Amino acid sequence: SDVRLDRIDTEETTCGFCAVGCRFEMWGKDGETIGVKPVDDPTAAPANNFSTCVKGKFGHEFANSDERLTEPLVRTGSGDFKPVSWDEALEYVAENLREIQDEHGVDTVSCLASSKGTNEEAYLVQKFARQVLGTKNVDNCARLCHSSTVAALQQTLGYGAMTNRINEDIGEADAYLITGSNTTESHPVLATRIKQNVRDGADLVVFDPRKIGIAEHADQYTRTEPGYDVAWINGLIRYIIEHDLHDEDFIERNTRNFDELREKVRPYTPQRVEEVAGVPADELESAAETLAEADTVVFGWAMGMTQSSHGTQNVLALANLALTLGQLGKPGAGLSPFRGQNNVQGGGGDMGTLPGSLPGYQDPSDDEVRAKFADAWGEQPPAEPGLKVPEMFSEAHNENLRGMYIVGENPALSEPDVQHAEKALEALDFLVVQDIFMTETAEHADVVLPAATSPEKHGTFTNTERRIQRVRPTAEPPGNARQDWEITQELANRLGYDWDYGHPREIMDEISDIAPIYGGVNYERLENGHHHGLQWPVPDDDHPGTPYLYDYDDGDFNFEDGRARFVPADSGQPGEIPDENYPLTLTSGRVLYHWHTGQLTRRVEGLMSHIGESFVEINPELAERVGIADGDYVRVESRRGEIVVKAQITDRVDAGTLFIPMHFAAGAVNKLTQETYDPKSGIPEYKVSSVRIEPLGPE
Ligand code: SF4
Repeated sequence: SDVRLDRIDTEETTCGFCAVGCRFEMWGKDGETIGVKPVDDPTAAPANNFSTCVKGKFGHEFANSDERLTEPLVRTGSGDFKPVSWDEALEYVAENLREIQDEHGVDTVSCLASSKGTNEEAYLVQKFARQVLGTKNVDNCARLCHSSTVAALQQTLGYGAMTNRINEDIGEADAYLITGSNTTESHPVLATRIKQNVRDGADLVVFDPRKIGIAEHADQYTRTEPGYDVAWINGLIRYIIEHDLHDEDFIERNTRNFDELREKVRPYTPQRVEEVAGVPADELESAAETLAEADTVVFGWAMGMTQSSHGTQNVLALANLALTLGQLGKPGAGLSPFRGQNNVQGGGGDMGTLPGSLPGYQDPSDDEVRAKFADAWGEQPPAEPGLKVPEMFSEAHNENLRGMYIVGENPALSEPDVQHAEKALEALDFLVVQDIFMTETAEHADVVLPAATSPEKHGTFTNTERRIQRVRPTAEPPGNARQDWEITQELANRLGYDWDYGHPREIMDEISDIAPIYGGVNYERLENGHHHGLQWPVPDDDHPGTPYLYDYDDGDFNFEDGRARFVPADSGQPGEIPDENYPLTLTSGRVLYHWHTGQLTRRVEGLMSHIGESFVEINPELAERVGIADGDYVRVESRRGEIVVKAQITDRVDAGTLFIPMHFAAGAVNKLTQETYDPKSGIPEYKVSSVRIEPLGPE
């Protein structure tokens, strides 16, 4: 280990919470993390310079929790867990996985990689799946957050990623359209950039069903109906074309299928948009005028757009809008999906932890690509796409999937309709969970392997602007917990392979050999000269990285002809719509002080002291009608289940909509959410479920 126990260690590292990718100096002493402070040189922290949010500053305390897993655990016949040696645990895992595969076939086992771990760890999990287990089934939680973004941007622009930079482009745009993103709470430092720029004169237009924090800073806030976004985006495009506000030269030079788009958006008159999406005609018009008049526009979105049964269509519509206005391939402009987890861009996408995509988004059905992998690995990866996360759970119910290796993911709380997901986990013959805490998912495991967390790791994360940045340890994993890459390597070797990586840098060398977009990434460059990271594509060692994708003049979209594609989007309705039994629409999301299923932040006293339990936002008019006072308890019920949560009376939501955060096990919102999926990406429709409420009074 690099960690000295007799003094304070300081290391420049990258935040392990969200994908803004803030960098700071982390301090450690006696093997534990003790604090963070801004870096001395702001160029080493391109996304944040000196800022961090409350999670970045205080959130690391979870790593020192005495609830950390410190020994491998195996479930006994009586259902309890007993601590065992690493030898025993790994042998047991290898035997059971092999036995299932021998008896039922290689594809009856699947792997879930983590978007929180490093690129190097994620790469090894997909290699373990494809090379060692020979299964085509590997996926990760990006399926649940931005898979629809990736699907849509790949079809229209070529790369499924943010086109631009945080600081120089998002921070300098002339105008913004922010939609489906609670930016101030989910990506606080990025929101600060936007707020500063708006204060300096940039225009901010926000479309969202909730009047969230960023809307307070907007020149225009328009409340939308949850689940009907294609209608108003197509309406904007129609208005722009009808009023000759589109960038005709850019469209002519750099795109295909504009006539199809023009036809598709024709029926989206202001009247129809108002009927379908609840957007008044004058607001549609003023948003279109603002965006068309600006020299540069950034389009920012998150899960309010993507977590929908037509999430891919939503993002296609946004891409069509940006292309119509020619707002790509130049500074200050671009399509900016705000990715969620710290490393969901890298570990959740670039590393190939996806059922139809090898590292660097290479196509497993391409013979040449498979031959290249066979040269590197000695085995060809499976050619066919495997199961997506939700399909893994349905196949577990059908006994077509019998074993899972889950690394740093918590589907027992993050899947929609968690009762269904829990039954699927129970139906498995064998479940291995590798994590740092006894999560709701680990409770269902046969073996639990104790792992390390980001302040204990060497590696890299790739942030939402495609920037690959170093992660360095200032603490040590507690007890007998181990580095994730070492655990996966041990498992591979017990299953007959001979992996001998000595350090994550060697894994990155293999990644750069095999994935062209990471071709020029190595630790030496990240330590020397590129301490501010490298933005992919980085094809070779001399390449400085790619700040923004594509080119306003020459196109350079990632297709053979260099042209972007308009792919007209269809509007539809959500999988569940309110009726007399379940008359309200429930939507879910994040709050500033917590993170995803709360495994980390619920263990930080300073964060829990701000928000210590789940709650439901209820509009004052609805609260009065039903007889609910602020702070009362309320039963919220859907067709899947019911929960009891505290009422927060607020006009952030309208009288037909409720909001519950996603971070709590008690009052878990995913007991209520529905299993409708976007057909293209497989993303669940977390943002729209029909519910009813019942007042329970105080305490
Ligand atoms: Fe960490 Fe995101 Fe906060 Fe930055 S904005 S400190 S990356 S959680």
